[in-house]
Amino acid sequence: MDESERLGLLTGQMDLEPAEEHTSARPACYVPSQHSVPDMTPGQPTREKDVFVHAAQLPNGKQIKLLKTLLTSACERDCFYCPFRAGRDFRRATFKPDEFAQVFMELTRKNIAEGAFISSGIAGGGVRTQDKLIDTAEIMRTKYGFRGYLHIKIMPGAQKEQVYRAMQLADRVSINLEAPNTERLAKLAPHKTFIEELFRPLQWVEEIRRTQPSYKGWNGRWPSTVTQFVAGGSDESDLELLTTTSWLMKNVSLNRAYYSAFRPVPDTPLENKPAVDPLREHRLYQASFLLRDYGFDLEDMPFAQDGNLPLPTDPKLAWAQMNLSERPVEINRAEKRELMRIPGIGPKGAEAILRARSLSQLRDLSALKKLGIVAERAAPYVLLDGKQAARQPALF
Ligand code: SF4
Repeated sequence: MDESERLGLLTGQMDLEPAEEHTSARPACYVPSQHSVPDMTPGQPTREKDVFVHAAQLPNGKQIKLLKTLLTSACERDCFYCPFRAGRDFRRATFKPDEFAQVFMELTRKNIAEGAFISSGIAGGGVRTQDKLIDTAEIMRTKYGFRGYLHIKIMPGAQKEQVYRAMQLADRVSINLEAPNTERLAKLAPHKTFIEELFRPLQWVEEIRRTQPSYKGWNGRWPSTVTQFVAGGSDESDLELLTTTSWLMKNVSLNRAYYSAFRPVPDTPLENKPAVDPLREHRLYQASFLLRDYGFDLEDMPFAQDGNLPLPTDPKLAWAQMNLSERPVEINRAEKRELMRIPGIGPKGAEAILRARSLSQLRDLSALKKLGIVAERAAPYVLLDGKQAARQPALF
């Protein structure tokens, strides 16, 4: 099997890893193996030999062409949802560290990829597999001088020293929890241990960030950390997922949680389990952003009796309907955290309001619109100079 074919096989199913995507929307662009300049328009894979490159958004907002790949799709574990699980009959492929680094640098020279996310199936244990990922990253950084974006996956069972070394080479590290707690993980991946293999490395990352000077990290800073959950894969509730997400954001500086709506994979123990509505994934993202950026607490989330968010309404709107319909917020007096709770107003909009009202009172919706606020969305929940905002009739 030539390099291009191997890369096609290894990158072909990485849309299961939504890391670096801006929204819950699926990626991507598919780059023919002849190495033509990529068309970043979403499309469908055409041939097995294609190399898959994803349009990704970095934490600083920059868009890059990200090669997400495994070093090997051979795996000795048997996670119930995973296409790469041990014993599943499909064509597997492997790169040695130097081989992969060379291929990747060739892709960067041809402007096909600008950054990489490297992960792996587990072969020979988590420690050995992590060593291969670290070797690969070291070759990319030192032998080939790659200075672009690099995301390294931390393997279940990796050691603390390996986590530290990965953090010295990467812009981002991730440890996928897959499920929100021990009990749920047992339904998805019975041979992974939630606390020892997954949760503890997340704590190590934070411990290293807090105790070691940042100049020891890549480019003088420590990498950001993300995790991923298989949403709906273990019949967990949104409350369970968001409880864990919220804890991680507060206690180990988790930058972002990714939710991948469960989709059954043929020839796995969960092949007959129904797929989860992608809208659930979207609602989880919205809720996690409210927790991270908008000052919401878990208790503010409009969970139904079963612990799930309502699918038809976005959680911020549902909260406002319950809490602000009868008590609209005076735009000219509210604090920033109150403004951010109003539908249509985000952190930037709230800042813009604070600046504008220090100059003059905001008296109508057009003043909000000029600040870039989705005024019609905010209108039912705000007062402008003591008056309920007059909503303009819809033209269509
Ligand atoms: S360890 Fe990773 S690659 Fe292996 S079966 Fe589990 S999820 Fe899949």
